[in-house]
Amino acid sequence: MADADRTALAAVFADAVRRAIGMAPGHPFVALHEPEFRGHEWDYVKECLDTGWVSTAGKFVDEFERQLAAYTGAAHAVAVVNGTAALHLALLMAGVESGDEVLVPTLSFVATANAVAYCQAVPHFVEADPATLGMDPVRLDAWLEEVAERGMRGCINRRSGRRIAAVVPMHTFGHPVDLGGLLAVAERWGLPMVEDAAESLGSRYKGRHCGTFGRLAAVSFNGNKIMTTGGGGAILTNDPVLAARTKHLSSTAKKPHPWLFEHDAVGFNYRLPNINAALGCAQLEQVPAFVERKRALAERYRRELAGVEGVRFVSEPEGARSNYWLNVALVPEETRDDVLRATNGANLMTRPAWTLLHTLPMYRSCPRMDDLGVAESLERRLINLPSSSRFGD
Ligand SMILES: *Cc1c(COP(=O)(O)O)cnc(C)c1O
Repeated sequence: MADADRTALAAVFADAVRRAIGMAPGHPFVALHEPEFRGHEWDYVKECLDTGWVSTAGKFVDEFERQLAAYTGAAHAVAVVNGTAALHLALLMAGVESGDEVLVPTLSFVATANAVAYCQAVPHFVEADPATLGMDPVRLDAWLEEVAERGMRGCINRRSGRRIAAVVPMHTFGHPVDLGGLLAVAERWGLPMVEDAAESLGSRYKGRHCGTFGRLAAVSFNGNKIMTTGGGGAILTNDPVLAARTKHLSSTAKKPHPWLFEHDAVGFNYRLPNINAALGCAQLEQVPAFVERKRALAERYRRELAGVEGVRFVSEPEGARSNYWLNVALVPEETRDDVLRATNGANLMTRPAWTLLHTLPMYRSCPRMDDLGVAESLERRLINLPSSSRFGD
């Protein structure tokens, strides 16, 4: 493509983004995703300050967990300090041990692989599916057929000799992964599934909330997610034993007692403080409305970008209802940087995909599928668009 054509496409793209979010040229800076506090945030946080219950005990943590379970349909929710900690605990609870391998998407935020490393385990990187942007179950099954075998010790990578202990699909930018396909693969290879549902609060797959399909799931409430607790996360599970164990380990493995400080394991200081949970209760009340407005915004992007030649807006996969956490456009490879320049230069924050995890220095020598061509192609074409829910009003 000629320089002039790329520049022209980038300008048309920036115009389409501006129309989708209802802004006139010359507008102030538009962030990728802003939190929104229009509910009971001030009331609940003030209650923490007024009563002095700001830290590791208080009514909002239990209340937040109850509401989170009710909203997602998970039997149990355990609130922790961030999504990465949630993922770390979920992996430990799924039985991941030192020296194991864990299947993770190469197209993900670095925390997915870091949580594996925290367990002294090794990430094993998996190819993406162009329809969901998440793990491709067909390609994963074929890969395991090539490199793995099921035996007495579970699923073994014949090349490394290590046990493959779990599979961790991620719902990319809120779009549900092919859970049906992946559950079948997990079952076939005897692998527990841990969902990285950090980005998908409010997303559903065949009517059921993301994060309720695996043995456990991790959700994030970081400031840029669909709802925030400042910093925070949660583990979802339907297993009461795992839920109790998770809660115990997240609060320094302290045995319940009115005054004794006794601990029965190397626990973690991962419990969500009450003041953050207060914010969480207020935010969670608004999540259904956030989802509706984000879906309305996605529809506007779909319409506006349909007119831009060579650009594809990524819509929710079939059978899924996405929260459209971050909207995604795929642009012709050679125009990506022009589009990034034109939008950011016009005060519209856009961002390329994460650098693929298997190429990061600390994960470069980890096992990976031989062919990660789809993830590589997505990385070269993907652009995240401004997605704050206020633009869906
Ligand atoms: C945000 C995120 C996390 C981690 O959540 P934090 O709360 O930031 O620790 C993990 N995985 C994915 C895919 C995320 O987007």
